Amino acid sequence: MAGRPVYYACKSCNFISEMSVCPRCGGDGTKDWQGMVAIADYEKSDIAKKMGITANGTYALKVR
Ligand SMILES: [Zn+2]
Repeated sequence: MAGRPVYYACKSCNFISEMSVCPRCGGDGTKDWQGMVAIADYEKSDIAKKMGITANGTYALKVR
């Protein structure tokens, strides 16, 4: 198997991407995060409400 891509989670909005700077809010990305949740319909998602997510995408549950 090829090397696993490195994913960063934004320290501000928890958004996960392959970029060290968040493409959503421009916040700092960190490799130190745990858990992943995919939000497909944030308006109907309880997790999204709890986490204050206002856009669809993949988010980290815990960012340090
Ligand atoms: Zn962000």
